[in-house]
Amino acid sequence: MAAVPAPLESIDVGDIKITYLPDGAANFDYSVFPRTPGECWARHVEQTADGRWVCSIGGFLIESGGAKVLVDLGFGDGQLEIPDFVTVRSGALLHNLARAGATPGDVTTVVYTHMHSDHTGWTAVDDQLTFTNARHVAGPGEVAHWSANADAPFSPAAQLAFANHFEESKDDEVLAPGVQIMQMPGHTPGHQAVVISSGTDRAVILGDTIHCSAQIEEPDMTFMFDVDPARAREWRDQLLAQLEDTPTMVGACHFSGSAFGRVVTGHGRRYWSALAA
Ligand SMILES: [Zn+2]
Repeated sequence: MAAVPAPLESIDVGDIKITYLPDGAANFDYSVFPRTPGECWARHVEQTADGRWVCSIGGFLIESGGAKVLVDLGFGDGQLEIPDFVTVRSGALLHNLARAGATPGDVTTVVYTHMHSDHTGWTAVDDQLTFTNARHVAGPGEVAHWSANADAPFSPAAQLAFANHFEESKDDEVLAPGVQIMQMPGHTPGHQAVVISSGTDRAVILGDTIHCSAQIEEPDMTFMFDVDPARAREWRDQLLAQLEDTPTMVGACHFSGSAFGRVVTGHGRRYWSALAA
């Protein structure tokens, strides 16, 4: 069956609610994972449609006590077509925030796992910040990296005008009760994950440490836009070893089908078990 982008969906982690807010999707040529043989995609056809990898785009709303933390801001209201490479259709994040019962003014913190343009899109609309009451938090060195590489693919060039609103996170920083930064540089210099814990329940929002569930089974799959592919892989290996066969829920913004699931082992392999619809 052809892959579909992940839908709006919520999970409870103890007293904390996490909702995936779809913004849109990108359909990428397989070459976005260089050096990945065709037979690999033949094993993962459920993540493809019309011969392309289906990459969901969206963010996560975390509601903890009175805090509303938004993890990543999608691609924004727009389209992108690079012939023979990618088609992006996007623009639903604010609509889905409203479906989740919140307004932009309710958001207390925006945290960027990193600042590629598919994670920063809704930072501002018409030259005005969208989430006017929120702290905006990025990893250390992230703004400096993009300021020096504003012409790079998927750079957040238009959003850098708002860089004076962005604060740098500290590792293990607590953003709200039970919501904590885990710095994980590699995909970009200031890349970070977000760990959610309440009682004995735990979840991890991966950021772009893992782009598609095929990478859980195929450790050699490396993403074209990893700034430091070797370090990104180290984090991927470390995180997967930590997560496998635990009750920890995983939030994966680019996975198709569902943005939530667990990492499990069985039948001699490690694989993704998506949240049942
Ligand atoms: Zn991304």
